[in-house]
Amino acid sequence: MKVIGTAGHVDHGKSTLVLALTGIDPDRLAEEKAREMTIDLGFAWLTLPDGETVGVIDVPGHIDFIKNMLAGVGGIDAALFVIAADEGVMPQTREHLAILDLLQVSAGVVALTMIDMIRNDPDWLELVQADVSEALEGTALASAPIVPVSARTGQGLDVLKATIAGVLSQVPERRDTGKPRLPVDRAFSVAGFGTVVTGTLSDGALEVGQEVELVPSGLRARVRGLQTHKQKLERAVPGSRVAVNLSGVSKEQVNRGDVVALPGALRPTVLVDVTLRMVSDLAKALEHNQPVDFYCGAAEVEARTRLLGAESLGAGETGWVQLRLARPVAVQRGDRFILRQASPSRTLGGGRVVNPYPGRRWRRFRPEVLAMLRALESGDPPGIFVQALRREEPATYGQVLAASSLDKTSALDAFLQLVREKHVVVLDKDWVAPAAFDVDHETSPGVPSAESWGKGTISAADKQRVAALQSLLTAETWAELQQRLQVILAGFHRQAPLRPGMPREELKSRLQGKRQTWSLRFFNDLIGGLVAEGLVGDEGAVVRLADHEARLSSKQQADVDRLFKLFAATPYAPPTVPECIAAVGDDVFQWLLDSDRLVRVGEDVVFAPEIYEAMLQRILEHLQTTGSITVAQVRDTFGTSRKYALALMEHLDAKHITRRVGDERVLRKGGATNPSGLL
Ligand code: GDP
Repeated sequence: MKVIGTAGHVDHGKSTLVLALTGIDPDRLAEEKAREMTIDLGFAWLTLPDGETVGVIDVPGHIDFIKNMLAGVGGIDAALFVIAADEGVMPQTREHLAILDLLQVSAGVVALTMIDMIRNDPDWLELVQADVSEALEGTALASAPIVPVSARTGQGLDVLKATIAGVLSQVPERRDTGKPRLPVDRAFSVAGFGTVVTGTLSDGALEVGQEVELVPSGLRARVRGLQTHKQKLERAVPGSRVAVNLSGVSKEQVNRGDVVALPGALRPTVLVDVTLRMVSDLAKALEHNQPVDFYCGAAEVEARTRLLGAESLGAGETGWVQLRLARPVAVQRGDRFILRQASPSRTLGGGRVVNPYPGRRWRRFRPEVLAMLRALESGDPPGIFVQALRREEPATYGQVLAASSLDKTSALDAFLQLVREKHVVVLDKDWVAPAAFDVDHETSPGVPSAESWGKGTISAADKQRVAALQSLLTAETWAELQQRLQVILAGFHRQAPLRPGMPREELKSRLQGKRQTWSLRFFNDLIGGLVAEGLVGDEGAVVRLADHEARLSSKQQADVDRLFKLFAATPYAPPTVPECIAAVGDDVFQWLLDSDRLVRVGEDVVFAPEIYEAMLQRILEHLQTTGSITVAQVRDTFGTSRKYALALMEHLDAKHITRRVGDERVLRKGGATNPSGLL
């Protein structure tokens, strides 16, 4: 379904021409609209000679004209540019032409109307035609055909319809990325139906019964009904003018400029990077930080300019600009917009949104920022995918997809290519690249090319696995994280050479920095990736550099040797914890525990591990033969004191090996089935 929009100076016969072409009076529809008596769109439609139905937008008023040109965010498909033959090119003719040019509306037909008024003067017609051609020169509409018509006599109308059909046949079909957007240009309520919104649908189809989200408010609603050109539909297609009956929201909750989208598919933004071209008759150059009005889709919002690559932008100049919007709007990469100044009211320029989610204020005059914007504008999917990932990372595949505004197939292609070329790193556990994908295309010419990935050679299951990926990074960030991790861990090991590694939580907060909070899932994937790279050892509670090994100084070693002599001298009544700490210090004592050189059984009591193991075996044997044991028996068996015997038995209780019954300990059920490995 395609849409054309009228343009041209006031009173040059636009509405009359639309009536003559379509049999529908747009002015009468406008009246009905004002009284909200109809849920029709207030737009006419035209059946072309080839049977195709085309929406025709014609609304009086200059601002309405701009909005109509922007309608459907991709812009109208073609302009019906109306110029009265008796008056020729007038000021608004030029202004509308300038706007069409800014929006790069290159498909169009000029209707040189009211030729009945100049019937007797072929010279005049020639003169006006030359005048019009001159005005079109150098604009996007330079090659638009000029068709003389009269709405009054009907002369030329058939030629005009055929010419419109010819021009539209050259216009590419609206893209369908499966992410429908309907910028709301009207919201009203209809008795018995409830809330109805209208707009031009783009990027995907809408269906009755679907749940939708209003962006930026985030309100959810359901599609109760759909209409296009007064016809009830189950499914509305991109490019068509649509009225949507919504349940779950009131008319008051919907604003002009809101966008109806699938839940979660669109994120509102207050910062947008754009490429901007100034009109050629700009009175005063656009300044940095200048207040402007931003028109995009059906939205109109105040904004301030941030000129990224120039001090100012003069007439006809083009530049990179970051716009800070006064309130959030839903826009996407590639959306066309117009900038105007409020008073005196005039068009300043227009262009395309290059990056809807810059996420932060760019510093001005930065070559890397300008290079990134150029990559985004060039529209190459891998470049766009990487830029989106760079803004979000670490990111899930779904987040990158949403931020990139790429369609699913281009995104998948781009992603697989980027992974293959090692620009993007996947850290998800168990991730294996799809089978068709590790193949070396140079040496295996028979296998599908990279271009065909995602277009059928990747299985549906593989597509799902890609869509579910959680932990993606750009290669640069991955390299940078490895570097930082090495610095952080090396520092930690230097400070605490005896500790086995850095506690996980501490490492996570150091690595992620202040600006981000990583999911635990991502952090674990990250550590997994680092282990696979051979960079770190994962000890569960702590993480260490792969080659880290606790080492004692010679003095510490001497202290430990001396302490262990004491342990050997009285193995069953060894030095207590405070005595150990006094002998070797806190750190070394902790290291002796961490490295299993001592086993702690109580607040004050530790044993050498082989002694602990031997005692445990003896106690278990005793329990198995006699059924129970007392603390006194333990004390006497090992010739130790009550303090050690009690600590050991309480330890075994706590480990669920024994159970206390009065003065005795008995074996817990299952407690002795695996006595080794209990340490
Ligand atoms: P708009 O403001 O561009 O929509 O212009 P209108 O369609 O309202 O037309 C302005 C005036 O010109 C009206 O009085 C029309 O009747 C008249 N008009 C429009 N088209 C023709 C035409 O082809 N021939 C003649 N003689 N008058 C026309």
